Parts: sequence; structure tokens; C-alpha cells
Amino acid sequence: MLARFAHTLFGSANDRALKNYQKRVALINGLEEGVKSLSDEDLQRKTSEFRERLKKGESLEDLQCEAFAVCREAARRILGMRHFDVQLIGGMVLHDGRIAEMRTGEGKTLVATLAVYLNALAGKGVHVVTVNDYLASRDAAEMSVLYQFLGLSTGVIVPNLSDDERRAAYHCDITYGTNNEFGFDYLRDNMKYTLQEMVQRPFFHAIVDEVDSILIDEARTPLIISGPAEDSSELYRQVDKVMAVISKDPGHYEKDEKLRTVILTESGVEAVEEALRDEGVLAGGMYDAQNVEVVHHVQQSLRAHTLFARDVDYIVRDNKVILIDEFTGRMMDGRRYSDGLHQALEAKEAVEIQKENQTLASITFQNYFRLYPKLSGMTGTAMTEANEFAEIYNLRVIEIPTNVPVQRSDSDDEIYLTEAQKFNAVANLIEEIHATGQPVLVGTTSIEKSERLSDLLAQRKVLHNVLNARHHEREASIIAQAGSPGAITIATNMAGRGTDIKLGGNPDLMVKELLKGLTEEELTEERRKTIEEGVLAQVKEAHKVVQKAGGLYVIGTERHESRRVDNQLRGRSGRQGDPGNSRFFLSLEDDLIRIFATGRMGAMMQKLGLKEGEAIIHPWLNKALEKAQKKVEARNFDMRKNTLKYDDVMNDQRKEVYAQRREYMEAENVSDVIAEMRARLIEELLDRHIPEKTFPEAWEVLTLRKELFGIFALDLNLEEWVLEDEMDEEILLSRIEENVEQAYQEIVEMVGQETMTLLEKHILLTSFDAVWKEHLHGLDRLRQGIGLRAYGQKDPLNEYKQEAFQMFGYMLDELRRRVVSSLSRVRPIAAADSQMSVEGDNDILSLPSDANVTQGHEVQEAPVLSRNALCPCGSGLKYKHCCGRVE
Ligand code: ADP
Repeated sequence: MLARFAHTLFGSANDRALKNYQKRVALINGLEEGVKSLSDEDLQRKTSEFRERLKKGESLEDLQCEAFAVCREAARRILGMRHFDVQLIGGMVLHDGRIAEMRTGEGKTLVATLAVYLNALAGKGVHVVTVNDYLASRDAAEMSVLYQFLGLSTGVIVPNLSDDERRAAYHCDITYGTNNEFGFDYLRDNMKYTLQEMVQRPFFHAIVDEVDSILIDEARTPLIISGPAEDSSELYRQVDKVMAVISKDPGHYEKDEKLRTVILTESGVEAVEEALRDEGVLAGGMYDAQNVEVVHHVQQSLRAHTLFARDVDYIVRDNKVILIDEFTGRMMDGRRYSDGLHQALEAKEAVEIQKENQTLASITFQNYFRLYPKLSGMTGTAMTEANEFAEIYNLRVIEIPTNVPVQRSDSDDEIYLTEAQKFNAVANLIEEIHATGQPVLVGTTSIEKSERLSDLLAQRKVLHNVLNARHHEREASIIAQAGSPGAITIATNMAGRGTDIKLGGNPDLMVKELLKGLTEEELTEERRKTIEEGVLAQVKEAHKVVQKAGGLYVIGTERHESRRVDNQLRGRSGRQGDPGNSRFFLSLEDDLIRIFATGRMGAMMQKLGLKEGEAIIHPWLNKALEKAQKKVEARNFDMRKNTLKYDDVMNDQRKEVYAQRREYMEAENVSDVIAEMRARLIEELLDRHIPEKTFPEAWEVLTLRKELFGIFALDLNLEEWVLEDEMDEEILLSRIEENVEQAYQEIVEMVGQETMTLLEKHILLTSFDAVWKEHLHGLDRLRQGIGLRAYGQKDPLNEYKQEAFQMFGYMLDELRRRVVSSLSRVRPIAAADSQMSVEGDNDILSLPSDANVTQGHEVQEAPVLSRNALCPCGSGLKYKHCCGRVE
């Protein structure tokens, strides 16, 4: 009550922000006549003028109105589109580092040009992030004409570019690419050995399209660069054989559908142990220390069998398990669940088990995008997640009014007793609408449900198209026609598809489809023109028909867990003032209702009296459902927040490691760092083996001698030294130091100062990567085990933080030992052909720049290693004489 009262009195925060933006819109409009009268050349010259003024101390804010006016005028001349006033507001919101919520069809691609142009003036590179490569290339191609006119360069990052091409793209004023490409380049850059090899510049400003998909839906899946680990496919099969049986007995495990977790019951554990022993996989008890790996396999296999369903979470095709994007229903070929789950699914489906990979580097999108000093985004649906954007990313969502008022009419939900009745009702409505010539778009939550509805329509002999992961290839042509009179399109979640359903049909896509069928010879300029004109005429006619029939009718066959996804579906209709309708159908058997809205909802149903085949439509129910959705959204947010808390621990460490690594890389030589390491190691050894305030007799001289030999390859006769008069800790320390330093200098002389400098840096960097990689693995395992600590009344996150911190310390200790001991063992090689040489960094160890990039996950082949290069194990020997020796 009070809130509503306050709202009418003061206006919402959103209204106030809009009011401010409106003032600037007026200023920009006031500049319009002036820029309109400029010649093309004078308009173009504005860019260099702005840059000059920036140099002289003006800020981007000072230039904003003028720059927007220039960009708008240039777009009008070059693209034939003049930014609407609301689009100017969108541009300002982006410039302010906020999220612009603008509905589908409001022209976000054009909106971005304003903030891109203004920020690119700073010369530090603006990144425009899209959800797929197609959109990156398309948007870049379409908008680069404008940027070029304004004197700015545009680059695109897509898979399979060489490092040189990537570097060139990053050095453009504006760079388009997907979140995956940007993220992988960041990770790869931090695995390079020289600054020159890096491709990215320091971050400045990122504008993220479909920001909710990237920062919320994808936030939980980290980008991972991995290399092959040991093969354990046999174990997967053996465990699968056992778990296939165990999972058939619900008494053996407890499943929580809400949390998507499953654990073995006591009887389950017993049964598994017995079966595994029979298989010869298990010795001793399952939870014995030596069986951690087996337990891990069992757990993943149990999940694969009880929580993941074929054709819902994944499909099997070409001897592969291919994941399905929960939000778009698309196949995510190449994307794999991590940590052995994917292999467990492969075992379950009896397809080839791909080799497991080991993480070499990883980052979540959350943490990647938080690296940008300025971040902004746009999407049709962000308001429902405004809290999350604010809390996690410090991004404020501004809801921007549509250019023309929305004409779509949204009906209340219809609720049925059973799913079957619901689908029947949907089919009835489809037939009804179809008869009027209105196109229908039906959204479903899974491929299975799409097919179920499709069968139902086929029985009734109603022609329709199905858009889902299975028919990926035909997607463009189906969407092209989805707005044609009487078209019926069934689609699994429509999010992020980035292609418009236009009333009457999408002429661009239709032309493209028609041209595809022609050979090069057939495709004359004339022919193309005829086709284009034909399509345009056809679409124009069809548009009128559809407009009259009432626009696109959107039917939802279930409510999604998140209101945002429902809104995305709804938003497909009613773009740019088009007419349209939307209606959702539900049943008491739907997951959302079954799991989250049982008690009150059931009672309400009874009160309202629900009969077979009849629907209940009541605003109450919409409210109750919205409440259920809010509950789930909040829970999912909590889960993401929790993941983030854990990830933050690793993130802090990664930042530290990358910064340190970069410092080493930038340094001309790292001799000081390594000398410091030697000194520190010696001190530590003495601390450990010489108890405080003791006489030489109490010192652990023998052990000390052995350890010194182990690290410095130097045998010092400590037993004799300690017999000398006046021997004390100080003297011992300085004498050891002297010897170590002298031995090291001898190595430097043997090898040559120049080579040694290169070697030191190389060994420091490769050892750093090696210990970091091992540390990452350790953190993974720590995290998996940490949940169990909760039983011991301890806060797992705290425990995790403490131990991770401790492990980080161990990692640094290990780094020192490795670096120093490798360098202490460097010797020139005597053989004639193998004179010790370091042939320039690239030759030593080069990471393939075209490493196999897949979405969400990159598999890195073993590094390419020249046989004459130094062995990466840090021995200081040539690879062919060390680990790469062919016996
Ligand atoms: P969104 O991403 O917001 O759904 P798009 O960027 O795909 O929208 O644009 C939708 C359509 O509107 C495109 O065909 C685009 O060319 C057109 N459009 C956008 N802004 C304008 C404008 N100011 N004037 C004319 N057409 C525009």
C-alpha cells in the first residue's frame, strides 16, 4: 500500500532516471539541425575533433551529446536508420555502465553504436559481446560501415583465427565477439611466455548483448582450458555396469529434485560395495582413502542415471552425448560436463568415452566480465533479475519505454488437471487460431514436449514446423516463415536466438534461403534482384493479412522456473507496436507446480473446483504462480551466489598468479627473483633442521646435508663444518650461502650469461604454470570434499577459504623448490650436435593458437615442442635428451 502510494507521489527510481535521460535527449535533438547541415567530410572530421578535445582534457561525458548527435546523423546517412529518441536513452544507459532493458525488436544493435562510438573515441578498445559467432559477425558487418564512415576500425573475433589475426582485431577501436572467445583469449594470454605473444590489450569497456543470458544463465558454467589427463574409460564402464543396476532400486538412493542432488542410502552403499568388489574394482571399503577416485566415479554415475534424462538434458547422436541448452533447446556440440560427469553419461549411453581432461586454466563469465573497468549490457528481459545484477555486478537495470506503445494482449494463464488435458486444449486453440490466418508460435520447455505436441497436431492433420535441437539446420528457414499467415511453429525455449520473427515473414532470411538453392552461374545480379523484389512484394502482402488477423499469437505450454524466460517467449510477439496475443497453459502435473506450488495452490484449485477437461482461469492463480517463480528465482540466485563465493577464492588467487606471472614476463631478467628464492630456501632448511638456541650437537646435520643436495645438487660436508670452533647458526648460514652462490655462478659461466637469463625466465614461468595447474586440481578436489564438513558443524566456505589459502602457500613453496632445483641442475650437453642452445622463446614451447576451441570448454592439445627445445619438465636438458627421449 505504502509503496504504491510513494510510487505515485515521487515516481519510481526508473522514472527519475528516465527523466534525466530525457533532458539529454532534448539536447541531442537540439543539435540535430546543425549536424544535418554538415557535409559528409565535415561530419567525418568530427571524430578527430572529439579526439583532440579528449586529449586536451575534456571527458567522454562532456562530448556525449555531440557525439550521439554525430553518430545518429551518420547512421541516418549510412544505414538509412535514424536512432529513435528511446534508442538515444538506451545508448546513454550503456555509456553509464548500466543495463538497458529494451524489448525485442526495439533495435538494440543500433542502440549500441552510440555508446560504442563515444567510448571508442578514447582509443582503448570497446568490446561488444554477443551470444554466438553468427551474431558477432553479422552485427560487426552491418555496423562497421557506420564506424568506418566515422573513421573507426572494427574487428571480429571468431574461432580458428590465428594469434596475429586476433591481435589485429583487438587493436581495432571496436571488437565484436562472443563471450567465449573473449574469455578464452584472456585465459590463453595468461599462458603465454612473452608479452609480444599476447593478443588482448588492457580492458576498457565491454557492452554485453543478451546480458541476462551471459551473466546469469551462463554464469555457472566456467570457461575451461584443459589438456588430456590419464585414460580411465575402463573404470567408467565398470562403475556404470554396477550403477545401472543400483539406480533401478529407489531404496538405494535419495534424490532431491529441487536441489538436483542425489546420494546413496546406507543400503545403496552396501550394494555398491558388494557389486564393485565382484567387479574387482574395489578393495576395502568404499570410503577408504585409497578409493577416492572410485567414489567419485560412483557419485557421477549415480547422477548420470538418476538426474539426467535422455532427450531432456542431452541427446545421443553420432556416437556422442550432446548437451542441450536448457534455455534455448539448442544442441551444444562440443560442450561437456566437467569432472567426469560427461564420461559417466557416455558410459550410461554406451557410446565412446572421450578422454578425460585436466583443467589448465578456468574462469567464470562472472569473474571475467568483472575485470572490465566499465561494463554495460542490453537485453529484453532483465528487470526480474535486477537484484542479482546489482549485487553481483554492480549493474543497474533501466527499463526503457518502447518506441511505440505495445499492442499485445496478454491473457491470464489457463490451468488444467493433467498434462494430457492441457496439451489437448493447446491443440484446440492452435486449430482455432490457425483458421483465422494468425501465425502461432508455441513455446515448450523440452524437445520431448515439442514432439508430443507435434504428434498431436499431426494426428489432427495440422501442418506445422518444429524448431529444436534436432532440426538445427533448418532453423533459419523456419524462423523466416514463422510470421507468415497461418504459420504454426513449435519451439523449445526461444531465448537468445537473435533472429526476428517478423509479421508476414522475414524478407532477409527468406531471400537468403532462396539464394542458397542456386548455383553460382544461376546467381546473376538480375536474378538476385528479381528474387528480392518478389520476396518483398510477397512479404508486404502477407504483412497486411497477418496484421489484420491480429499479429503473432504466442502460446506457452508451461511456465518456466524463471519469469524471465517466459517473458522472452512472450516478447516474440508485439514488436514495434505490432498487434499480438499471448497465453500460457499449465497443468497440475507441471514441474513448477508439482514441486514448488503444491500446498496453497492445491487448496485454491479445490476451492475453485477443477473438473476434468476444464480450465481454471483466475488472477489469483497467476499471482500464486508468480510467487512460486520468484521463490525459484531466489533459490537459483542463492545457488549462483554460493558458487561465486567459492569461485571468488580461486579468483583472488588467479588474479595474484596472473599478475605475478606477468611481472616475471615483463622483467628483462629474473635473476634477482631466483637469487631470493635460493636464499629463502636455505633459510627455511636451516629453520627446520636447526632448533632455536641449540648447540651444533643438536642440529640435524645429516638430514640438512641430504636436503641441500636434493635441492642444490651440491654436496657439502656439514658434519665436518660443525666440528669447527665457534661454529654457530650465522656462520653456517653464510657459509652455505657462499657455496650455493659459487656453484650457481659456475653454472652461469658454463652455460653463458645470456642463455642462463633466458633459461631462468623460462623455467620460472613453466614451473609456475605447472604448480598452478596442480593447485587448480587440488582446489577442485578440496571443493568436492568440503560439503561433507558441514556435518561437522563447520562452515564449509570458511573451511574452504582457509585450506585454499594454505594450499596456495604450499604451491609457492613448491614453486621455489622446483625452480631452484631445476636451475641447479643445468649443464651444457657435451655431444657435438646438441650444444646447449635456446632458440628464442617461441621455439621453446609454443602453445597452439588454434587449439581446439569448443563452447564453454577448450581442449588444449599437448603443447607443441621442438625436439631441440628445452624440456618443459625444467631439467634444463633438451627435450630429446630428457622426457622426449626415444628409447
Ligand atoms: P533487437 O535486438 O532489439 O530485438 P534488432 O537490433 O534486431 O532488435 O533490430 C530490429 C529491427 O529494427 C532491425 O531490422 C533493425 O534494422 C530495425 N531498426 C532498429 N532501429 C531502427 C531505426 N531507428 N529505424 C529503423 N529501423 C530500425
